[in-house]
Amino acid sequence: MLLYTTMYKTIDQIEVTNKRVFLRVDFNVPLTKEAPYTITDDTRIRAALPTINALQKRGAKLIVASHLGRPKGKPDEKYSLKPVFEHLKSLVNGNIRFANDCIGSEVECLAAELEPGDILLLENLRFHPEEEKNDPGFSQLLAKLADVYVDDAFGAAHRAHASIEGITHFVNVKAAGYLMDKELKYLGGVMQNPAQPFIAIIGGAKISGKIDVIQSLLKKADKVLIGGGMTYTFLKAEGKGIGKSLCEDDKLEIAKSLLSSSGGHLVLAVDSVLAHEFANDAESKTVSINEMPPDWQGVDIGPETIELFTSEIAHAKTIVWNGPMGVFEMPNFAKGTLAIAKAMAEATAHGATTVVGGGDSVAALEQAHLADKMSHVSTGGGASLEFLEGKTLPGVAALGNN
Ligand code: AMP
Repeated sequence: MLLYTTMYKTIDQIEVTNKRVFLRVDFNVPLTKEAPYTITDDTRIRAALPTINALQKRGAKLIVASHLGRPKGKPDEKYSLKPVFEHLKSLVNGNIRFANDCIGSEVECLAAELEPGDILLLENLRFHPEEEKNDPGFSQLLAKLADVYVDDAFGAAHRAHASIEGITHFVNVKAAGYLMDKELKYLGGVMQNPAQPFIAIIGGAKISGKIDVIQSLLKKADKVLIGGGMTYTFLKAEGKGIGKSLCEDDKLEIAKSLLSSSGGHLVLAVDSVLAHEFANDAESKTVSINEMPPDWQGVDIGPETIELFTSEIAHAKTIVWNGPMGVFEMPNFAKGTLAIAKAMAEATAHGATTVVGGGDSVAALEQAHLADKMSHVSTGGGASLEFLEGKTLPGVAALGNN
């Protein structure tokens, strides 16, 4: 089997000195809702710094490009990359300039004036509708700015857009940045040659968004542990009462078929924390999943499930986690999610490979200050989910045909 990491070159394998490098990053950061727009979480910017620093050090002339939000194909101050530029200035050394557009003669002049180590940050790629349409003419104009293409935007790799896919047809040299490479090393490792035993933990509100990933992981993992709101649809599919818990009635058939085809590899919670209302200070109690009373709703996994899941984690060599075990935003119902985070940190310390994806599980890890205790925390929610579903990501495939 061809390993992902052998399918493309990294920046270490290409010549960049004195070259204009078009660096596609994922600077799609959250901003304040009101002007002046400022960044509320710069994780994605920081994640690209190792690549930016290395390219600068080697004397590349950097043209950095990203999308931000959904500006509907036209300039919109709310989605401008100017706040990112202001912040990036404080994180990097050397000359850094901002271009008010991402294509056109003015940008071409600015790109031509770059000296080794300089950075030119382009305005939001999605101010042009051609970006999301993967328009060849637009791709060509982007490619014209540089000699070399580097993709470090794993978070956008599931999009066949001009700056991700189209542009690669108009450049002679292309490579993955360090972040892209790290994501593919870990996620690719999980999908292609995981150390055994391999378990997956899937949680979150609904089955609907996770059916494909559960199906895909059932083929690879020794066990898929299910927690969170989706548990109750599975329990109802087994004929159990679930009270007022979250349930997707239109997914009962698929839940039934997943359970019957899983050969016992799908592991459901055995007990549940219930709340009388959907509120942190609501009256609560813990019951076996066989004794769910009406009028109550499941909001977290119970202590027996925590024990069951943490014991599975302790015995595994590869663990992938996506989705919280309960309503972790309410501190009283965050115990299950935090217990998983802690067990994963311990497993990592004992040599297991732990990979976490999905905005909520990552938020829970950060809440518990355990993000740096995982082997890998993915920066791409949607992209990592599609990767684990076994799909070929356009951005990854485009780097491959060197
Ligand atoms: P998802 O986007 O599908 O990963 O779902 C994440 C959301 O699921 C979080 O906001 C959690 O609060 C929510 N969630 C997890 N468990 C439950 C539950 N038992 N009941 C309702 N919501 C839940």
